[in-house]
Amino acid sequence: MVTRNSPVSVLPGIGKVKAAAYAKLGILTLGDLLLHYPRAYENRGEIRELANAREDGKSALILTVGSEPKVVRLRSHKSFLKFKAFDDSGVCEVVYFNQDYLKSVFPIGAVFRFWGKVERKGKHYSLSSPVAEPWAPGVHLPPLCAVYRLTDGITLKQITKDVETALQLLREQELCDPLPPELIAKHGFLPLAVAEEHLHRPLDKNDLEEARRRLVYQEFFDFSLGMALMRRKTAAPTAPVCRVASLDPLLSLLPYRLTGAQERVIAEVRADLASPTPMSRMIVGDVGSGKTICAAAAIWIAVKSGRQAALMAPTEILARQHYADLSSLFSRLGVRVALLLGATPAAEKRKIRAALAAPDPADRVDLVIGTHALLSDGVEFAASGLVVADEQHRFGARQRAALAEKGQNTHLLVMSATPIPRSLALILYGDLSLSKIDELPPGRQRVDTFVVDDSYRDRLNEFIRRQLADGGQVYVVCPAIEEEETAPDEVDFTGLFDPEPARPPLKAAVTYAKELAAVFPETRVGFLHGKLKSAQKEAMMSAFVAGEIGILVSTTVIEVGVNVPNASLMIVENAERFGLSQLHQLRGRVGRGLRKSYCVLVTGATADRLGERSRERLEVMRTTYDGFAIAEQDLNQRGPGDFLASSASDTVRQSGGLSLRLGNLAEDALLLAAAAQDAGDLLTIDPTLQSYPLLQSRISTVTGNLIS
Ligand code: ADP
Ligand code: MG
Repeated sequence: MVTRNSPVSVLPGIGKVKAAAYAKLGILTLGDLLLHYPRAYENRGEIRELANAREDGKSALILTVGSEPKVVRLRSHKSFLKFKAFDDSGVCEVVYFNQDYLKSVFPIGAVFRFWGKVERKGKHYSLSSPVAEPWAPGVHLPPLCAVYRLTDGITLKQITKDVETALQLLREQELCDPLPPELIAKHGFLPLAVAEEHLHRPLDKNDLEEARRRLVYQEFFDFSLGMALMRRKTAAPTAPVCRVASLDPLLSLLPYRLTGAQERVIAEVRADLASPTPMSRMIVGDVGSGKTICAAAAIWIAVKSGRQAALMAPTEILARQHYADLSSLFSRLGVRVALLLGATPAAEKRKIRAALAAPDPADRVDLVIGTHALLSDGVEFAASGLVVADEQHRFGARQRAALAEKGQNTHLLVMSATPIPRSLALILYGDLSLSKIDELPPGRQRVDTFVVDDSYRDRLNEFIRRQLADGGQVYVVCPAIEEEETAPDEVDFTGLFDPEPARPPLKAAVTYAKELAAVFPETRVGFLHGKLKSAQKEAMMSAFVAGEIGILVSTTVIEVGVNVPNASLMIVENAERFGLSQLHQLRGRVGRGLRKSYCVLVTGATADRLGERSRERLEVMRTTYDGFAIAEQDLNQRGPGDFLASSASDTVRQSGGLSLRLGNLAEDALLLAAAAQDAGDLLTIDPTLQSYPLLQSRISTVTGNLIS
């Protein structure tokens, strides 16, 4: 029997080769195929006349065949078929290549809905290989046609046909809906199977919205249930009470006074730590607002109370920097700090692990700093008290789950420059208290921001030269080098009826570094990307910190936290490829010292080819300097991607858990709230879901993804 778990090869015409192509899209089974939701929809329902056909894309046209199709033979067995077709506004030449058999499909007088890009030369129109559907009054042609993310070997036609077949094969078996009927009735939902079918083949826009509503809800519902069940596994946790009489020993070492906001946040953290209820707090503060010292205060409180702390950063570079800063601070207080990275030699790792687990407090390491690998490396603490996660939004689902687990008997502090939406925090953490640092240390200057296109290259180089001559240093950030291979994993519903134009070519980081080295012989051009060995990265970074490198070309590995006060210019290539919060983070790398600093966002396309949306997005960067406002904009424009995974970066790319296929945390906030509420209510009535076996098996997939 064919089920959702049957391999795609059960479909007619799918052999080894095509199955392998599907596998590249992550599609192994029929279920995967149906979960490969459309990326956008072609709006073939909006009929245009030849005279006002779109210039920037395809149009739907109703044309009558006006001349007998003629086959023109070329050499080497090639041929084309051409005929004229017209509407009230003009006459168009229609051409198909190497498809002579279409001759009989287009008799004179027959009417079709054509879908294609109309080329125009004066009054002369032409259409090359358009999609043609026979049209007659009263015939219903679907106005919306799904467009999918594709790969070599899988055409749109192929996948459309296969989805259709899969829907038919599975239709019979999908009468059971996993959702309790009360909830379906309460929300007036379509049955799940119907919603799925309509998402792939909507009858109209309304239909599509209904289908989407059901599926988005289901996505949030499954996720909320999964997270709640995972949290429930451990009973009423407690954490060690941590208290100190005074923070002065730590604070008196600082060369500055805390801002009012920092004082408030530290007081909140201090109160949490003094209670046996595990702290679960997020510190949100703009780039440069001074979150690190708040974490340091928490660490110090824990250590002074005889407990150990772990500080996790999303990248090795950032972990090293934290280590450099904090070990110099803490060594003066007698706190023992260790750095534990993937690159740490095995013997030293063993030593650090032993020192973390040492039964005698006198032999113990008090604070260990590392990347998220800390959690999975089987590190054991003799007396754990506090876990701090920096730039938490960069962690993947798996880390978050591990973190949540660690958090059961320790205090948990997360820091982020990107405010996590309340709704999302709720389903990820259950309850997460929020501390805001809404004030920057005094004397910070604004980083003037410019948006330019490639035609400014010469002037830009001149600008770089001047910064260098003044003794400043320059960052150049390019999208990750492997970016070109990995198609974005997101469903673009904001562009629902307007699939984005083809993306401009990427400025490849490697090539660009070489180019710049030739243009600027007066300085050293450094190079940094995720695939370099850890030692190479470190060498490059410290050369930049020491001022030996004038220009550092990198992928987004430098995005978070890096501190080089002498850097005065941040250039971001293909800036349209980055999320706003990401750009804001990047901009925050400069303007950290006394130098007047600048940020130049270079778009890969010339201004007129850049989509309207991209232009609007970058405009936000030029006019807004408030990280919170930017994060909000980002959430509105791009959805939650940036909060959950690192799309254009070198850090680990996580797909499990809440990588939403469909939902958008900003737009669908109401659905999310409803789903989370319903999930909670259902678990109150039936804590193990024993009356809902279908739900149970769905959820185990969700949580399986989360913890695997
Ligand atoms: P972020 O919030 O981005 O992690 P950091 O903690 O790295 O910010 O702080 C950025 C810089 O500001 C550091 O060099 C730090 O020493 C400095 N800093 C932090 N707090 C203050 C303050 N109250 N006054 C002056 N400088 C501060
Ligand atoms: Mg920081």
